[in-house]
Amino acid sequence: MKECLFCKIAAGEIPSTKIYEDEKVYAFLDIAPQAPFHAVIIPKQHIASADEINAGNSMAVACVFEAIAKIAKQENLEKGYRVVNNCGEDGGQTVQHLHFHLLARRNLAWPPG
Ligand code: AMP
Ligand code: ZN
Repeated sequence: MKECLFCKIAAGEIPSTKIYEDEKVYAFLDIAPQAPFHAVIIPKQHIASADEINAGNSMAVACVFEAIAKIAKQENLEKGYRVVNNCGEDGGQTVQHLHFHLLARRNLAWPPG
């Protein structure tokens, strides 16, 4: 996808603060953090949203979650974290490349406890 922001970030064409990369996954810090630790985890494969996940591409999602478990250890998130996916207009999705927010280092209990 030539005009996709996150495809360009994964390809290194747009700078990002990379925290993790493997063959299938790229992860970087969010520019507008909503928690003391806020990373964005993406499959390198362009999938527009969670609504586009199917039997043919779901391995990319499995790879993202394997990466999240590694990143949590790498970043010492032993107190826990939240993984969020925004899908579509009502879900608040602003970048049309499947991504998962990884939020941590504050109490994210819902409702606050
Ligand atoms: P969403 O609103 O779920 O589509 O999430 C998109 C996220 O990407 C937002 O949290 C933005 O702050 C973040 N974002 C947008 N552009 C960049 C960028 N160039 N580098 C890092 N994060 C970005
Ligand atoms: Zn893309």
